[in-house]
Amino acid sequence: MELWYTEEHSENVRFSIRVEEQLYSAQSPFQRIDVFNSKEFGRFFTLDGLMMVTEKDEFIYHDMITHVAMATNPEIKKVLVIGAGDGGTVRELTRYNTIEHIDMVEIDKMVVDACIKYLPQTASKLNDERVSLIFEDGLKFVRTKTNEYDLIIVDSTDPFGPGEGLFTKEFYGNCFNALKEDGILVNQHETPYYESYAKSMQRAHKRIREFFPICKVYQAHIPTYPSGHWLFGFASKKYDPVKDLNADKWNKLGLKTKYYNTEIHKGAFALPNYVIELLGAAHE
Ligand code: SAM
Repeated sequence: MELWYTEEHSENVRFSIRVEEQLYSAQSPFQRIDVFNSKEFGRFFTLDGLMMVTEKDEFIYHDMITHVAMATNPEIKKVLVIGAGDGGTVRELTRYNTIEHIDMVEIDKMVVDACIKYLPQTASKLNDERVSLIFEDGLKFVRTKTNEYDLIIVDSTDPFGPGEGLFTKEFYGNCFNALKEDGILVNQHETPYYESYAKSMQRAHKRIREFFPICKVYQAHIPTYPSGHWLFGFASKKYDPVKDLNADKWNKLGLKTKYYNTEIHKGAFALPNYVIELLGAAHE
């Protein structure tokens, strides 16, 4: 018997991984959670049938969602992480001794519990003493914060279901207020390649631009996400991620990373023409 996990990347495109066994399946108050084991990607987990993390390629996503901001402003001390229930983003942040505190706001405690049990590779640092785990809707949480964080990372699901509010104008405006005067906002920004994802990406970019004077997009290759071509948003009140990159200081930290380096950092902001056009169209 063959067991395959299949995800629709568009109405006409499907992506499949051969599954060795299913390790966990549950319906939380917010979403369906599944964990599988596979030969090619190791363990992986999905929410409502959409890929979140695989053991084999998670390093790409987690390197790129954390180190770009950290190398731009090495003085970052207080961080808010929204979503990120698998723990991979917090794992990378805790490698910086200079970070004093991380608030991680995840809506679904069952995701965190499942990842602690089945994905220790990403969840291993959730018990770091600098981390406060808060189980709440990120949209509500940021409403109450002003001038508090150096960095906000939005490591969310797609803009439907529980993640919908994390792509709204209200949310981005509240993130702007929650950040200090040199604060940075990084968010997962979907793929430009398939039309429905590209529309979400354009909408998010347009909304973020309404608040932040510096608003850039950068890319990475993530094999298990739709099309493999994934974008991140970098919005900031002060720092330009390329001009202000502090490469020497970051390299002196001696952090060993499997994907990120300061050359990738610069190159990731060089976008293909069709993406530049999509982003340009988002401004109109
Ligand atoms: N790397 C992943 C990706 O891009 O596919 C995202 C990973 S992470 C597991 C996404 C997390 O965001 C989920 O655990 C989900 O429960 C959480 N989430 C969704 N909506 C949220 C909200 N409104 N507030 C806080 N967390 C939320």
